[in-house]
Amino acid sequence: MAKKSFILASVFSLFSLPSLSAQELRLPAEPASVEVPAVAAASADAASLKAQYEEIYSALKVYSNVAYVAPQGSPEYLEAAASGQYLRAKLEELSRGIHGLTGAVYTGAAPARQRGQVSFGVLSELNDVFGFYSSMSKSAAEAGAVSRGVPIRQGYCQINYVKNNVPFLVQFDGFLKKGEIILTFDDGPGPLTEEVSAAMKAGNAPSVFFVLGRSIAGEDGKARIKAEAADGHAVAVHGYNHAAAGDKPFTAMSTAEALRQIGGVKETIKGTTGAAPKFFRPPYGIITVEQLKAVDSELGLVPVGWTIDTLDWSTKDPEELFEKTVAMIQQRGRGIVLMHDIHAQSRTAAKRLVKWLAENGYKVVSPERMTKAYRGE
Ligand SMILES: [Zn+2]
Repeated sequence: MAKKSFILASVFSLFSLPSLSAQELRLPAEPASVEVPAVAAASADAASLKAQYEEIYSALKVYSNVAYVAPQGSPEYLEAAASGQYLRAKLEELSRGIHGLTGAVYTGAAPARQRGQVSFGVLSELNDVFGFYSSMSKSAAEAGAVSRGVPIRQGYCQINYVKNNVPFLVQFDGFLKKGEIILTFDDGPGPLTEEVSAAMKAGNAPSVFFVLGRSIAGEDGKARIKAEAADGHAVAVHGYNHAAAGDKPFTAMSTAEALRQIGGVKETIKGTTGAAPKFFRPPYGIITVEQLKAVDSELGLVPVGWTIDTLDWSTKDPEELFEKTVAMIQQRGRGIVLMHDIHAQSRTAAKRLVKWLAENGYKVVSPERMTKAYRGE
C-alpha cells in the first residue's frame, strides 16, 4: 500500500474546526488533553522503535482503508479517521526517533501485503485515548479495556470523547430498516429555505430543519420557518449561534446557559409556528453529556446526530454533491442524511436526491421514527 493511503487530513473534516479554539472546546473537567504521546527515543533502542513502527504502520493501513469506504459521519468513519490521524502522527514520531538513533530514514521493513493487522496493543491504546468501542474495537472492549464512550440511549446515540477530549454526539441508525432515510437540513433558515422546503414537500419527503435562533429573530426568518411547518416538516433547534466565528460552543457554557439558549430558540419556534419543536442537534455534534441529558429532561427535546454526512459545504458543484450523496446512501443502505439549506449546491442536489430516492426504492420516513427510537416507544 502506497503512502498516499495515509492522507487522512482531508477526510478528517469533522474535527477541523478552524474557528473554534481547542481551549474552548476542551472540557475543563476532563483530564489533560489527548495529545499524541511522545516516543521515548532517548531511552529506546532502534530495534524496539522499528518494531513499534511496523505495528503502527500495519494498523494504520487498516484504518486508512476503512476511512475511505465507511460512510462519512458513521461511527466506523469517525473511528477510522480519528485513529488514522493519531497513528500517523505517532508514526512520524517514531520515524524521527529512529532517524535520531540510526541517522538513517526508516520507511518500514514489512512488505505491504503483510501489513493490515491491528494489534491488541494498538486497539487498547486507541480505546484509552478516544473511548471508541464500535465494531472495530470490540475485541479490545471484550478483553476488558475501559471505554470512555458514554451511552445516552442504547442503540440510538452516545457521546464519545474525541480529539482533545471534545465530547461528540455519535448517532446510530439501526432503528431504520434498509432503504429508510431521514433527511435533515441545518444552519438555516436562509433565502433558499422556502425553495428547499417546497421541493421536499413535493417529493413527499418530510424533513427536519435544524434552525439557528439568530436567523429567526427577524420577520424574514420567521416567515421561512412558518413555510417549513406549513409544508409538513419538523422545525427543530440547532442553537442560537453556531459555535463559530467567536461564538461559544455549548462546551464553553454552563448547562444552565446552554439550556437558556436552546430553550429560547425552542420558544421562538413555538411562538412562530404554533408547534413546539421536538428535536435538537448541537452544532458540530459538540455538547457535554450533562447538557445533552438536560436538553431532554428540561426541554423535552430528542437529540439527533447524523449517520450520512454529505459534506455539502465542501463543494460548489451540485452534480458532484448529488453523486457523492447517492454513493454514500447506496453504501450504507439507510441513514440520517445531513445537508444545509443555505447553500445553492445543496438546494439543487437535494431536489435531485429526493426524486432519486423515490425512483430507487428508498423511503424518506417521518422524523417521528427518531422519537420512537429514542423514547423506546
Ligand atoms: Zn450546523
